[in-house]
Amino acid sequence: MRTLLVSILILVLGLSLSASLPPHCMGQGCGGWGSPVMLGEDFHCKLAVDEHGRVLQAVESFQVPVLLYHHITPEKQFSKYYLSKEAFAAQMDYLDQVGYTTLTMRQLALAIHNCTPLPQRPIVITFDDGNGDIYQYAFPIMQQHGFVGVMYLIGDYLNGEGLLNIAQVRELARSGWEIGSHSQSHVDLRYVGKKVKDEVLLSRKGLKEKLGLTVDSFAYPYGMTTRNVTRFVQEAGYLSGVGLGVTDVHTADNLYYLSRQEITGWMTFSEFARLLPFH
Ligand SMILES: [Zn+2]
Repeated sequence: MRTLLVSILILVLGLSLSASLPPHCMGQGCGGWGSPVMLGEDFHCKLAVDEHGRVLQAVESFQVPVLLYHHITPEKQFSKYYLSKEAFAAQMDYLDQVGYTTLTMRQLALAIHNCTPLPQRPIVITFDDGNGDIYQYAFPIMQQHGFVGVMYLIGDYLNGEGLLNIAQVRELARSGWEIGSHSQSHVDLRYVGKKVKDEVLLSRKGLKEKLGLTVDSFAYPYGMTTRNVTRFVQEAGYLSGVGLGVTDVHTADNLYYLSRQEITGWMTFSEFARLLPFH
């Protein structure tokens, strides 16, 4: 009898909870800003619906290339992390010609969380480490095309030599760029034990305080993580976590390790174009 009463109570609570969800929110991934986002096994981002509950589009996965750059330099270099500004400009020209729309990581994460459709030919352009040359060379080129980027900053490195300063970061943000956290000290998080809290939480808090900006995405240093670290990033309230990978297809299952394709300095233009799904 007792078990029956408890079951009825759970059922009633469950029904009232689901009735209070906004109409576009069909799964458990509909957390608010700053609160932990819990994605259970039953989270399936299948349907996007309008405010009357009508199905607009079936959405299970999102094909969105997420590119990763480190340095853009004035001269040509044969180096993994340094791409010439000419090569970068040619890549951006191509994305514009083909009709890509740049998204922030927040837009992609919210689309996955809430099952909402994205614009045609979406792409996310990310930069790691907060290098000053991105402001100097990449930012103006992207501005010419009306593109926005996502900059992942290391807490300890802000304002350092050759790195972005606060005024530059604020300008990027004013132009529509998103600022994410790339940890506090750029350490490999697999080996930091309990200090993972400082790396994941302090970096976010410090960036928010110094910049007055929302910080909702986390980039794992070296693309390295463990199950525990990834869970910690999720429980800390980030909307997404980003790493490295080869796929451009994203679902709720990889929201805390979204695959980013690294664009290296030695990549030819055709190698770059081959990474893209739409031509
Ligand atoms: Zn890095």
